[in-house]
Amino acid sequence: MVSYMGHIDLSARQVDSGRATQIRDNVAAVVEEIRDTEAKAGRSCGDVRLLAATKTRTVGEIMAAIDAGIRLIGENRPQEVTAKAEGLQALCAERGLNLKADDGVGFHLIGQLQANKISKVLPYVGTIESVDNLQLAERISRRAVAHGLDVGMLLEVNESGESAKSGCEPEAAMELACTMASLPGLKLQGLMTIGAHVDDEGVIRKGFEHLRTLRDGILQSGESGTEDCRELSMGMTHDMKYAIREGSTIVRVGTAIFGPRAFI
Ligand SMILES: *Cc1c(COP(=O)(O)O)cnc(C)c1O
Repeated sequence: MVSYMGHIDLSARQVDSGRATQIRDNVAAVVEEIRDTEAKAGRSCGDVRLLAATKTRTVGEIMAAIDAGIRLIGENRPQEVTAKAEGLQALCAERGLNLKADDGVGFHLIGQLQANKISKVLPYVGTIESVDNLQLAERISRRAVAHGLDVGMLLEVNESGESAKSGCEPEAAMELACTMASLPGLKLQGLMTIGAHVDDEGVIRKGFEHLRTLRDGILQSGESGTEDCRELSMGMTHDMKYAIREGSTIVRVGTAIFGPRAFI
């Protein structure tokens, strides 16, 4: 169990109006920054989707973001997915929105997934962004087939080479992606990375640029199952602008929407 889970009632549906207003204003500011950066980078308006990274946030806070227009959310921990899923489903349904559906509110897992938690999250998340080895992909594939589901998957690549980070080595990504793409019950939708933890814009952008090159190579490989490998999930609060300039299609933003985290 994670320490903060004992301190916050993650399933709480109530949120006070001041907090909801703050979240709404933050979402508007982040969306504006994305649109502005898209334009400066010569990209079309709406090219980049904003995923709200919701770890440590309550159901009520997440719904405030959804009411402000967020249509894609991402959780890090399977325990948080299961703690919040019922409340999110119910409150989305009240608004005529389907949780997990492409035309409703997309639900992604963006953190590490232990094998024994796969079945717990599959009913709720449409895409797992953090798949970084073949064994995990094969396990998800078997469970997906057993549940009669098609699960979206992004291959996570450790572009920065920082040892604390998850993700496969960039050199292994091409072969791994092509192998994973052929597994039943899985749809390879793209690649994900966490930017280098440095201040140097050049270093951060180099990692993002390399992920884009990898994605292009996979798309051009012609291997079966790779034809929808389009997404580049890269960019967080502090490096979102660099990622958008390098072709990001999904930015994962927590702090700029919800403020600093009290835990982790
Ligand atoms: C927490 C988290 C984010 C968002 O980070 P912020 O700096 O709060 O925007 C994005 N991606 C992953 C994988 C995360 O764990």
